[in-house]
Amino acid sequence: MKFIIATGNPNKIREMERILAPLGIEAVSAKEAGVVLGEVEETGTTFAENAFLKANAAYIKTGMPAVADDSGICIDAFDGAPGIFSSRYLGEDTPYDVKNGIILDKLRDVPDDRRGAHYTCAICCILPGGERLDIEEICEGRIGYEQLGNGGFGYDPIFVCGDDGKTFAQLSAEEKDRLSHRGKALRSLVDRLKTYMER
Ligand code: IMP
Repeated sequence: MKFIIATGNPNKIREMERILAPLGIEAVSAKEAGVVLGEVEETGTTFAENAFLKANAAYIKTGMPAVADDSGICIDAFDGAPGIFSSRYLGEDTPYDVKNGIILDKLRDVPDDRRGAHYTCAICCILPGGERLDIEEICEGRIGYEQLGNGGFGYDPIFVCGDDGKTFAQLSAEEKDRLSHRGKALRSLVDRLKTYMER
């Protein structure tokens, strides 16, 4: 079964293709499928609602089974913000090194034990006939003290996960996939799809 990845975010497409391909799931971007999906208004109030809006729009437009993710970073010291507003936080077009610098500044005097943060990834998959699979996973970590590393994207240079103090941006792609919210959610999706196909 071939799925359309319902996002235009090239970083997400790369991660989703990379994680799903070895697991035997063929997922193609809208561009590869030769369709234009257009912007979907993220009017949901949760990650799961927004993932559904994106997957459903792609399913309706293409008739293909569709998979979408909605994800973001939740910072404890900001009461969980930016959360579902992660991509728009501090300005949609503001470069991430600037956004990350502002976050580090705001947290300058915040001690270690209050620097907790997590990434959330909600995945919605719409199957032929409209059946829906919903998955949500998180990756716990904390906000570091400086921007480190060139890998990953978005908030990865300030997100530290694990005891070695490395940010997600300092990990190899495979290391990030093993720990990340998106890696966990996509592996859960594959398990759910296997069960669905065996029915
Ligand atoms: P969405 O496209 O509305 O789901 O917004 C996702 C946003 O959350 C991204 O644009 C990033 O700002 C942030 N985000 C989600 N996952 C990651 C990740 O793995 N690394 C860094 N930032 C992420």
